[in-house]
Amino acid sequence: MKVAVREGKCKGYGFCADLAPNAYELDGSGYNALVGQPPARVPAGLEGEAREGAEACPLRALVVEESDDDASGPAPAPRR
Ligand code: SF4
Repeated sequence: MKVAVREGKCKGYGFCADLAPNAYELDGSGYNALVGQPPARVPAGLEGEAREGAEACPLRALVVEESDDDASGPAPAPRR
């Protein structure tokens, strides 16, 4: 899973980091630290928190990508 901030959408309300402090950080100005950054991988075990924090944003600034770009899909079936 990856998360990103839509360009120009974050207005620094901080609900994301209040609700999901392990998944999101704010910068010194109170904006999500992912502003202007490429999508960031969510550490294993924090997926639910990342989703909740994204849903808390009143501006829907956070985008959650459920699948990782670099995941190559399911492993191929073993040959017989
Ligand atoms: S992403 Fe949304 S909730 Fe988080 S700081 Fe930005 S505007 Fe606020």
